[in-house]
Amino acid sequence: MLCDLHTHTIISGHAYSSLKDNLNYAKINKLKFLGTSEHAEMMPGSCKNSYFYNMRILKREFDGVYLLRGVEANIMDYNGNLDFDASRVPGATDYVIASLHGACIKDGGVKNNTNAIIKAMDKAKVAIIGHPDDDNYPLDKKEIVLAAKEKNILLELNNSSLSENSFRINARENIIELLELGEKYDINFIMNTDAHVEYQVGNFSSMVELLEEMDYPKDRIINFDKDESRLFKYLNIDKKEIYGENSI
Ligand SMILES: [Zn+2]
Ligand SMILES: [Zn+2]
Repeated sequence: MLCDLHTHTIISGHAYSSLKDNLNYAKINKLKFLGTSEHAEMMPGSCKNSYFYNMRILKREFDGVYLLRGVEANIMDYNGNLDFDASRVPGATDYVIASLHGACIKDGGVKNNTNAIIKAMDKAKVAIIGHPDDDNYPLDKKEIVLAAKEKNILLELNNSSLSENSFRINARENIIELLELGEKYDINFIMNTDAHVEYQVGNFSSMVELLEEMDYPKDRIINFDKDESRLFKYLNIDKKEIYGENSI
């Protein structure tokens, strides 16, 4: 697979491996890009946002795996405001995942939840909506899909949502519905593992199984791409930022 852009380390407060461990598994599972995306600071137990602003000191390549600097920001209200502002330190963050989490926002009903997500799509560096598959926060999926199309945002297919240990409700049914709407309205998706321990990094087996059951077209899912051009377009990343000035 090309990438896994939603992964956590011990820095998030409820995950169990280090960045080095995750990079190691990214290599074992043959990813080209590992995105590390701790929870932003309003998630209890996670790091302060200064952690993200300092990620510029990290090198880009680790034994053949390229590291992308992400954040999983918390949507804090129904106007889509986040607890992380990527425009505060330009160049520090490659992408933001915006997600609804129980510790930060309550279910406001379909209309408010949907509005929260659509407004969050406009915030700095938001490129992915995390786990829009959870009936703890029921959504108008058609509205979400249409907004993602208009704003060039990737909706996440979250492998952890399909786990039997997941706290999310009706994820499988919701993912199927999103995929069908994606086909109808012509949008692309990104698969992420949402790994909270190293051996989950780059393991998309539950999602791939579902896609195969549905006989879903793989070209709608950017992880199957041979190169990073489509991914970088969504993330609005210039190749030079990752490979240096001399890259082609
Ligand atoms: Zn999350
Ligand atoms: Zn997460």
